[in-house]
Amino acid sequence: MKTPGFIRRLKDAITDYNRDFSERIFLILTIISECVVLIALIADIILGEHIGEILVLTGTVIFVPVITVLGLYKDRIKDSAKITVTLLVLLVMPLLFFFGGGLEGGSFIWFIFSFMYVGLVLTGRWRNVFLVMIILLSFVCFITAYYNPQLVIDHSRSMRFIDTYLSVILVGIVCFFMAMSQNSIFQFENKRAKKETERAEELTRSQNRFFSSMSHEIRTPINSILGLNELILRDPEVSNEVLKDASGIQGAGKLLLALINDILDFSKMEAGSMDIVPVDYNIGDMLSEIVNMIWLKATDKGLKFNVSIAPDVPAVLYGDEVRIKQVVINILNNAVKYTKEGSVELSVECESIDQDHVMLSFSVSDTGMGIKKEALPDLFNAFKRVDEEKNRNIEGTGLGLSIVKQLVDLMDGTVSVNSVYGEGSTFVVTLKQGVTDSSPIGDLNIHNQQVLKRDRYESSFRAPDGRILIVDDNEMNLEVERKLLTDTQLKIDTALDGKEALDMTLKYSYDVILMDHLMPEMDGIECLEIIREQTGGLNRNTPVVVLTANAGSENRELYNRAGFDGYLVKPVSGINLENALMNHIRKDKLIISRNVTRMSRDINTTESYV
Ligand code: ADP
Repeated sequence: MKTPGFIRRLKDAITDYNRDFSERIFLILTIISECVVLIALIADIILGEHIGEILVLTGTVIFVPVITVLGLYKDRIKDSAKITVTLLVLLVMPLLFFFGGGLEGGSFIWFIFSFMYVGLVLTGRWRNVFLVMIILLSFVCFITAYYNPQLVIDHSRSMRFIDTYLSVILVGIVCFFMAMSQNSIFQFENKRAKKETERAEELTRSQNRFFSSMSHEIRTPINSILGLNELILRDPEVSNEVLKDASGIQGAGKLLLALINDILDFSKMEAGSMDIVPVDYNIGDMLSEIVNMIWLKATDKGLKFNVSIAPDVPAVLYGDEVRIKQVVINILNNAVKYTKEGSVELSVECESIDQDHVMLSFSVSDTGMGIKKEALPDLFNAFKRVDEEKNRNIEGTGLGLSIVKQLVDLMDGTVSVNSVYGEGSTFVVTLKQGVTDSSPIGDLNIHNQQVLKRDRYESSFRAPDGRILIVDDNEMNLEVERKLLTDTQLKIDTALDGKEALDMTLKYSYDVILMDHLMPEMDGIECLEIIREQTGGLNRNTPVVVLTANAGSENRELYNRAGFDGYLVKPVSGINLENALMNHIRKDKLIISRNVTRMSRDINTTESYV
């Protein structure tokens, strides 16, 4: 049998969890009380109650459902509730009180019911107003009945007992069912909320998987593109035309990678999946890396790059090194990008908070184009590029500073900007960091090896007596990495999976092993664990550097814990591969290129510090 439309609508409204809770309760309460009032009406008729009381109950049985149905159809249940409560409190209760024998009957028990009714179906101001009204009205009824007993319709003794008992039972039944339905709604909602939380958690997990696999999948082919392109750039035989094209590919490839990184980071933050992973880090090493990177860009553009680092900064801090680096590099890159001439300055200072914490501040100033005052409020908004007219020829997405702001917020820090249009800008980032080793870094000299551009590629070192193993399941990447290292004269073995690598580690003793992480069957971490324990293995103590397309601080921490001796992220350049190998190959096997040594210089970071 088909359920009538009205009942279906009522059921849908009661179970609609998007609907206001008080509306759903009103509908349930209306059904329960209508049944109860109907029973009371039948009992009154049978017992021969006063006609006034019978008429009041009949009116309630007719009008309340009509008002409720109208509210349901017009989707104005809240209004129905207000009208019903008004009728109930101002009309039904006083009439029942006087027709039903006042204090000598059961009707005063219904006052208690009206308190509960108002508390459950009304909300906000209306609820408070009606609470006061019931209190006043019951007071008025009681006082009136006391001083004017003739207004109260008298009941016989037996009627008084039956009426009072019936009222107790009926109000009790309403209370019972109401409490029961409220309880089951509550339990149902609780279960639903739990399920929703689980679903949201699963969504975050799959989004995380998606972001990291996207990053991995994109980095793998870019590694091949940039690596093969670097080989063309190195080749002394290629024509100037090809060289120019290859430089174009390199620029575009790096920009593409930066863009993808920004978009993935931004989406990760939008999805709430960006995690801050604090680790112990050496601030000197971090600053060296940052300065080395920006120095090259600034000098390429003919800008002066001044670095001043307070000597009292503690040597080892506790915080998310990767994300801090990302923030500072982003601001420094902008400073170089938006400055035509003059200088860019990085200054690092710290202020002690307590024994275990410092407030670390990075200040980046430039003598660039500056930012208009009216553009400052929008500066950290995503996709917002200010002064587009002037910036048209400068590449950018407008995501950088938004990512900076969100990362700084996640690390409970602050970022501020001060700028004079046409004169320059200063960005200041402050972050609270833990102190792991409080000894001051002192006079930090940053050794810069890539200061001068080499006219012709030359490897940083040669090691004809050295032997390394590269493990990667991507044949193209393996080939690129092998070729990038050809000039080092190292003996290079390659393995396409963990099993093949384990065969090689039984045969040869390597100076370094470069190991991919994600490989089918046996991943890089499992392979590393076996190498460390391998019976008859010749490489139990060989440095193993992970060479992976998995970027991000969480992965860096993972590889650290797994026991890798170094971490290289794809796309990897020849110089990065060489630097990593130089750190691990025994010094007596290395023949360092004289050209490279001559080209290095030290940047004193305390010179300008006052
Ligand atoms: P973009 O990818 O455009 O560089 P950002 O979010 O990094 O995006 O920066 C947003 C805008 O802020 C830039 O388009 C630029 O107009 C302005 N801006 C950022 N840093 C500087 C700076 N150091 N000097 C002048 N303008 C800047």
